[in-house]
Amino acid sequence: MINLNHPDSEALLKVARLIDEAMGLGQKMTVVSSSSRMAILQECAPLLSELRRMNDQAFKGSAYIRKTIDEFETGIRAVSSLGHGKLQAEPIESLEACPHCGTPVARIGYRRPNGQTKVCLECSSLFMQAKEKLESFEGFGTCAI
Ligand SMILES: [Zn+2]
Repeated sequence: MINLNHPDSEALLKVARLIDEAMGLGQKMTVVSSSSRMAILQECAPLLSELRRMNDQAFKGSAYIRKTIDEFETGIRAVSSLGHGKLQAEPIESLEACPHCGTPVARIGYRRPNGQTKVCLECSSLFMQAKEKLESFEGFGTCAI
């Protein structure tokens, strides 16, 4: 069900893709070394900027969305700096436990062009709540897609 108070479906789909990409990068970060996390964080920056631009352009500059994008970014940045920049990680193929918290990694594969990948769900929780708020009807409303 699409909320009719929201802008056109093209804007919604674009926002949904941006959120998914940023989330995917955040998840990818949870299973790599600190130096790789820094590189991935750089990839996140333009996605978050674009989300902010979309909020201003197509969602009337919602204060709730603005605040929630900030939370999402704070969560992703928190993942990037876990272990004080000193985390080492095994290659993804052999990785069984999170390099930071030791939780067994989860295998996920949905919506990934490259197939299955591994993530630490525990560390991902640092940004997943904000991600869900962004998708809610109070946020961008992309949960309806
Ligand atoms: Zn972890």
